[in-house]
Amino acid sequence: MKCPICKEGTMKNGKSTLTVERKSALIFFKQVPALVCNNCGETFFSSDVSKQVYKIAEEAFNKGTELEVIKMKKIA
Ligand SMILES: [Zn+2]
Repeated sequence: MKCPICKEGTMKNGKSTLTVERKSALIFFKQVPALVCNNCGETFFSSDVSKQVYKIAEEAFNKGTELEVIKMKKIA
């Protein structure tokens, strides 16, 4: 798959980080499966991954979490 941003790089399976913020709360996701461009470094997350990330973030916000670091090992 060609990168839609720079149109030169190739999107490869990799890992990235993602931050979800709400008001004063912040959740930092590590090792999130993503497609990463080998040219410009642009990252894309699949809709399944995004859904899962936001679901986890939502649960944490509902618990009153202010700051949390989550390692995404469960989703392949
Ligand atoms: Zn690119």
